[in-house]
Amino acid sequence: MKKKSLLIVCDGLGDRPVNGVTPLEAAYTPNMDKMASEGICGLMDTVLMGVRPGSDTAHLSLFGYNPFKYYAGRGPFEAAGVGLTLKKGDVAFRCNFASIKDDKIVDRRAGREEEGLSELSREINNIKIEGIELIYKKAAGHRAVLVLKGEDLSSNVSDTDPEGEAIGYNKSKPLDDSAQAAKTADILNEFTQKAIKLLAEHEVNKKRTQKNKLPANIILARGVGMKASIPSIKERLGISAACISATTLIKGVAREVGMDLIEVEGASGHVDSNIKAKMRATIKALKKYDFVFLHLKGTDEASHDGDFESKKNMLERIDVEVIGPILNDVKDCTIALTGDHSTPISIRQHSADPVPIVIVGDVREDKVKKFTERECAGGGLNRIRGLYLLNIMLDISDRVKLYGA
Ligand code: ZN
Ligand code: ZN
Repeated sequence: MKKKSLLIVCDGLGDRPVNGVTPLEAAYTPNMDKMASEGICGLMDTVLMGVRPGSDTAHLSLFGYNPFKYYAGRGPFEAAGVGLTLKKGDVAFRCNFASIKDDKIVDRRAGREEEGLSELSREINNIKIEGIELIYKKAAGHRAVLVLKGEDLSSNVSDTDPEGEAIGYNKSKPLDDSAQAAKTADILNEFTQKAIKLLAEHEVNKKRTQKNKLPANIILARGVGMKASIPSIKERLGISAACISATTLIKGVAREVGMDLIEVEGASGHVDSNIKAKMRATIKALKKYDFVFLHLKGTDEASHDGDFESKKNMLERIDVEVIGPILNDVKDCTIALTGDHSTPISIRQHSADPVPIVIVGDVREDKVKKFTERECAGGGLNRIRGLYLLNIMLDISDRVKLYGA
């Protein structure tokens, strides 16, 4: 009988021991452990052994798309995540509103202060540059997306964001000898200058300065990418799919592979996110879609902050508020619980340590009883590659065709 499939990803789930235990080992997670007891466990290299995955490349892989083939920079996914539809050949950048004084960047995030940024974004969107169409759209917080549409563009150009403070911004340079790269770098530099001019005199910044807030007086661009053509998950696997996530980048990846996005009120992508609402939306979505993907970001945020307790608490919240109710309510469904990469507290960045994974459903139950990095290492799935996960799940859900006769 064909079953539904549910993939639950705790971002940055995996870790290394701190004083002998990982956050997952320290957390009280009876529901995750129930999954381990009833399911088949293992470790997973989401991209490849020894490769430190970004959240974007990891998710592409988890959705069955080889990132070495389909990944062409973060920009296009960020653009898709804010609802922009790109055409092949369009170039997209991630942008930050930042603060500059005397040609030196004083804050790369404009004090993380959102006041007036929507208004500024609308006006920047109206900047005209000869020969191309330009779109500028605000994303979460101090972030935005810049899209260039036109003939003969290239993503082989350098960033204007120096990714540091107390230094100047960069002039974009072509990274090859092509006319396309030279043209695109020129356009980005012209955009940067026009934006600086517009922002310098703007009322919004006068108000911000009066209130002792940093002005948003420069736009820094990075993460350039050119829209690639990606076949949809429906075309490739014949399944309908939905994504529940609060993170622009992940929503973008999901949208680019043809998944429907389900918006959930109160889902923030932070440790205080309304994950109960996401759980309810997941249960509802499973009635309609063959495959549902639920993304929980708080674990990664806590990891980047180097906050062991916060990661442990987030895992405990996920256990009671998400995993418990789903195990109770969802029937006839293959459920996988895993991460998109490890983000060890000790290094506060992504690592290539494989992530624990458990799959429950019509599986060969193994001897693992606890859902942790080290227990899962002894499970029946052994060590798998992320690219194969969706196929494995769809096979368990009885949705894979016979290869051969
Ligand atoms: Zn991630
Ligand atoms: Zn991260």
